[in-house]
Order: sequence, then C-alpha cells, then structure tokens
Amino acid sequence: MTEFEYDIGIIGGGAAGLTVAAGAAQLGAKALLVEKEKALGGDCLHFGCVPSKTLIRSAHVYHLMKHSQRFGLPKVQLPPVNFQQIAQRIQRVITTIQQHDSEERFCGLGAKVLFGEPVFRDEHTIDLGGKKLSAKNWVIATGSSPVAPPIPGLHDTPYLTNKEIFSLERLPSSMTILGAGPIGIEMAQAFNRLGTQVVVVDRADQILLKEDKDMADTLQAVLREEGVTFYLEASIEAATAGASGKEVTLIDRFGEKRVLISDEILVAMGRSPNIQGLGLKAIGVDFDGTGISVDSRLRTTHKHIYAAGDVNGGFQFTHAAGYEGGIVVSNAIFHLPRKTDYTFLPWCTYADPELASIGMNEKTAQLKRIEYSVWTEAFKDNDRSLAEEEKAGKIKMILDDKEKPIGVQILGPRAGDLLSEWVAIFNGKVKLSTLAAAVHPYPTIGEINKRVAGNYFSPKIFSETVQKGLKLFFNLKGRACSLQDWEG
Ligand SMILES: Cc1cc2nc3c(=O)[nH]c(=O)nc-3n(C[C@H](O)[C@H](O)[C@H](O)COP(=O)(O)OP(=O)(O)OC[C@H]3O[C@@H](n4cnc5c(N)ncnc54)[C@H](O)[C@@H]3O)c2cc1C
Repeated sequence: MTEFEYDIGIIGGGAAGLTVAAGAAQLGAKALLVEKEKALGGDCLHFGCVPSKTLIRSAHVYHLMKHSQRFGLPKVQLPPVNFQQIAQRIQRVITTIQQHDSEERFCGLGAKVLFGEPVFRDEHTIDLGGKKLSAKNWVIATGSSPVAPPIPGLHDTPYLTNKEIFSLERLPSSMTILGAGPIGIEMAQAFNRLGTQVVVVDRADQILLKEDKDMADTLQAVLREEGVTFYLEASIEAATAGASGKEVTLIDRFGEKRVLISDEILVAMGRSPNIQGLGLKAIGVDFDGTGISVDSRLRTTHKHIYAAGDVNGGFQFTHAAGYEGGIVVSNAIFHLPRKTDYTFLPWCTYADPELASIGMNEKTAQLKRIEYSVWTEAFKDNDRSLAEEEKAGKIKMILDDKEKPIGVQILGPRAGDLLSEWVAIFNGKVKLSTLAAAVHPYPTIGEINKRVAGNYFSPKIFSETVQKGLKLFFNLKGRACSLQDWEG
C-alpha cells in the first residue's frame, strides 16, 4: 500500500480550510495546511466579514451622532470623517481576531502550517516551492476573488474591490458602486453614512436579487432616504478615467444615456473561484467558471480530493464554509458518509436595517411551485423598536399548505441575531405553537418572533366559533362593551 506523508492536506487557510485543519488534527489525523498569503484567516478576516462589519459599526455610530436630535439630544456639529482612523480601527480588530487563526494555535492543535503556492503534481502530491508533499486526502479550500466583468474600459480604469476598500488613505468624496448585491449594499450605506456621495448601479430590477422584492424594496427606500442614488435595470456601457474623475457610462431603465463621474468606483459584481495555478486540469479535477464541481459529500472528480467553501461555487458565506469543512472532516477522517443539506442555511445582509433569511422565501416557494401563506408583523408595532427608533421593516413567516413553517425573513434591527431563534426552531423541528406560547422577555425586539407566530394562531383561538362554544358550555355573558355604543 502506498504510504503518504499526511493523512489530509488542506490548501487554503480561510474559514473552510481552518475548520478542516482544526477538526482533522484534533481527531488525530496528521494534517498539513498550505496558505499562499503571509497569514491565516482568509477573505472573511482580512477583506470580508470582519473589516466590513467593523466599518459598518463606525458608520452607524457616526449616523447616530448626526441624528442625535431624533433621540431628544442636542444637535452636534460633526467634523468630517478621517478614514485613516477607521482603517486603523479595522486593522486593530483584524489583528485581535488573527490570534485565533495563528500558525502557533494550529501547531498546538497538531496541524502543520506551511506558506506558499502549491501545484498538484499528481492526485496525491503537491509541489510547494520545489518540495514534494503527499497526502491520502486533499481539500481545496482556496476561496474566491472579486470578478470584474468585461465592461469596455473598466480594466484600464483604476477601481476598488473588497481588497482595497478597507484600507483607503482617505474617504472618497463620491463613489459609484457597480453591483447591488450584499457587498455593494453594505458598502453603499456605510460610505454614504460616513459622508461619501454614493450611486449604486445594477442591471436587476431590485437590490439583493435573492431576496423577496418587498423586503429588498423597503431596504432600498431606507438607503434612498439616507441619500444613496440608485440606477436599477441599468446597462453599464463603459468605464474610463476622465479629467474630473472616474466615469461610468450607463443606459438607464428609460433608455437614457448617463455618465456618472465619481472619485472612486467600487466593483462588487460577483466572485470567481480561486483555482488558477493549482494544476487541477492536469490531475483531472473538474471545474467551471463558478467553481470546482463536487457531489453532495463535497468530493471532486477524485473521491479523495474535496472542495469546500467559496471555491465550489455554492453558498458564499463564512458559516457555509465552516459547515462544509465539518462535512469534509466527517467524510475524509471519520469515514461517515455525510451529505450537505442547505435547507435551513441562514444568511444576513448587514445593512441597517439588517435583512436576514432562513429557509424558503416567496421567490423560492413560487419557483418550487409550493402553496404557501405569508404571516407578518411590523417592527413599528414592537414596543422596544419604538423606544430604539428602529421602526423600519417587518418579519415574514412562510407556511406551507399544511401550515408548517418553511421559511422566515426578517428586515429589521439586529435581524441576523433575531434569526437565531428560528435557526433553533427549524433545525430542532420545534412546533410553532411552542414558540407562540413561550414567554419572551419584555420589552425586547425578539418578541417579534413570538408575535408573528401568534398572528397565525390568534384568528383560530379568538374566532366567533370558539366564542360561541365557550359561551354555551360555560355560560359566559359575552361583550361588556361595544364600539357601536361607545361614547368616549
Ligand atoms: C466584503 C465582504 C463581506 C463579507 N461579509 C460576510 C458576512 O458578513 N458573513 C458571511 O458569512 N460571509 C461574508 N462574506 C463571505 C465570506 O468572506 C466568504 O464566504 C468566506 O471567506 C469563504 O471562506 P473560504 O474558506 O471558502 O475562503 P477564504 O476565507 O477566502 O479562504 C481561502 C484561503 O485560501 C488561500 N488561497 C487562495 N489560493 C490559494 C492557493 N493557490 N494556494 C494556497 N492558498 C490559497 C487564500 O489566501 C485564503 O486564505 C463576505 C465577503 C466579502 C468579500
């Protein structure tokens, strides 16, 4: 039998790769982790979730200061933002979190970390800087990179992506954002709040295309009210660096040609898998433009080579990458054939208000031709939301024809956190009646979860039939007051 140096080799030290490395090493497997950058952590830590949420928080605080009067506080005259100080704060947060993802910590867990750019020489062996390293199993967890579509002139026009946006030397006075997906929308609101004049361009007829239009439109209205300009259903024709700024030419939804001139262009139009230079073609691992092809156990065309995280073109979230890392450990180390199941994979766009989702929304239910009903509760009717001045949005609960919950979307304050109760409900198969009957602390924004479930039961419990039955059996006397006779 062929002897390999390692039980498992992992390429890419981001969310997926680190999960596999930690899990495999702690289970006693001899694990090798290879990362091409100087530090572990991946996109989420260095150019994604962590810097974006840190920036969003700074922008939120500045926004609250600007609107102090809404809270009965004195108006404050604010100096403009010094972006370098925000960038320094972002770096401090990254540095703190980086300690969890240090080479030393992984060595302590039992995994060997090497830095460099590996190339597969055969289906069990990589070449790393001239050194051959072999493993019984391999995991490709190299993530994804921002993609710039072939817009005429764009490649000759300096533009920003998520790699540069968090370490700018100064706050741009204006920014055209290409793409109204989660990254584009989060950055649009954050930069607009910090003082940049922001225009968002997208070819779709709504922002956040995966989401239901009513939820996305409400969020767009909030951003528009704050000062963000949108060109939706627009076709981007060209980009160029002009004398007075960077120019984006588009045809708007009415067929009018427009030239947007701004200080910076941010490209947030999607991602492509990091597969270049790995030598995948030569060893027969199949992939296309969206990612490496995998089966439901995340195995590539070679059953001992797995692909987890963004690189397989599935759900591009850190928690999805972590989940997939766990699936790989199960299959490769435990030899327990575990398949992926994304039915209740939650996600959240961290705008203000946040937009969070689990299970099916109306769009997916319609696509699957599932009969459904929708139950809602608005944040303006939640006492705590009123106290906090967080009135925009609603929760939407989708039930199937058997009146079983199949999905929930929340547009509102801390929606991502509010969704956690639903994560437990869906995964634990908790009955809706349990949620509706459970006592929630008052006044909390989380009461909205109980209220939306209650909205489903109320018409049934307080129906005329129930009233008539109770009157009959227990000799109840009926109404003590009626609005028709009410004299105020
Ligand atoms: C601006 C932004 C905000 C985001 N916000 C969120 C959020 O709030 N919540 C959320 O869940 N997700 C968010 N994401 C998505 C999240 O960052 C990714 O889904 C996640 O990082 C994917 O993890 P991964 O392990 O697949 O890839 P990564 O974390 O990118 O890790 C891949 C690693 O592989 C390394 N690598 C690449 N090529 C090679 C090679 N040839 N050899 C060796 N190593 C290599 C890379 O350097 C990197 O360290 C955001 C993304 C962006 C861009």
